[in-house]
Amino acid sequence: MRLNWLKGFLLVGAGVAVGCGGSSNPTTGSSPSPSAPPPLFPPGSVLSIQSGYDGAPVAGADVRVGGVSFRSDAEGRVPLPNGASPGLTLEVTAPDFLPRRTRLTRAEDLAVALWPAEIRRIGLDQDMTRILLHQGTSGGGPLQAMRRITPGTTEIRLWPDATLRAAPRAMTALGTATERLAATAGIPFVVVDQQPAGGFVIVVHEGTLQTPCISCALQKTNGRTPWEVTGGEIYIGNSGMLHPGVWIHEVGHILGLGHSPRVGLDVMATAPPIQPPDFSELEMVTVRMMLKRPPGKLFPDDDADVSRSSVPSSGWVVCNLEPPHAGR
Ligand SMILES: [Zn+2]
Repeated sequence: MRLNWLKGFLLVGAGVAVGCGGSSNPTTGSSPSPSAPPPLFPPGSVLSIQSGYDGAPVAGADVRVGGVSFRSDAEGRVPLPNGASPGLTLEVTAPDFLPRRTRLTRAEDLAVALWPAEIRRIGLDQDMTRILLHQGTSGGGPLQAMRRITPGTTEIRLWPDATLRAAPRAMTALGTATERLAATAGIPFVVVDQQPAGGFVIVVHEGTLQTPCISCALQKTNGRTPWEVTGGEIYIGNSGMLHPGVWIHEVGHILGLGHSPRVGLDVMATAPPIQPPDFSELEMVTVRMMLKRPPGKLFPDDDADVSRSSVPSSGWVVCNLEPPHAGR
């Protein structure tokens, strides 16, 4: 068993806008405005089915739009002669990709990036996707909705405490980690020396919440949706702060990753001192794909109605890198 002392520990901000959720009627509405916007998906709109891994077109995919069946052509295209009404369910199945289920709500939804089901060369398969994103940090247990950072986040700010800021070698390791994190996520990571006024902030403390742990992480949500991470806190002890891989591991939890069973291969595995220095390619693909999906996505790749996603009974978070020789 892993140390699970943080289970049940979740930082949740005050204020829950019950019944809100921003669900103003997504259909065309009944506004009498004479300058109604053009339809989102007019007749002749074309779906483009592509691999989320490399953008390659996916030919021969079975596509259902609101119950009507199509098949993608050699270029991955699916013309919709009658267009589509916003809110229609889109379902796509294709070999080698997770079955996709979503709703057409924005013009950019015409580009459909499918989630690779398996890339053997890098160790990606459905089980790893499930473990990393849907089964919590300790593995096993019921499937959870996917947690991830607030959509539209344009910068992640890390705010180390004064003790850490006064430790040059720790700051060097953190700087290396932030460069690698930015390269994977495609989002700038910035280390700041004062509390930021807003934005996505990860507060970093020197030390750990419990001495046997090398480091740990807590996700923060605002109650709007329990799957949307709005910030986080990291505690990092002396034995981990000089290793960029430990920083990346903890930030990986804030991003929404659980633990990997691939000890020595994945930075999200829990068994120091064998701590890889950066995300594996499997983890990079996972992070990039998760950032293409909304919080609350259900396994395997269904975000058609995230209101169906189970609400976590207690916080998830967490981490807690075990110390060497612990419990195995
Ligand atoms: Zn961890």
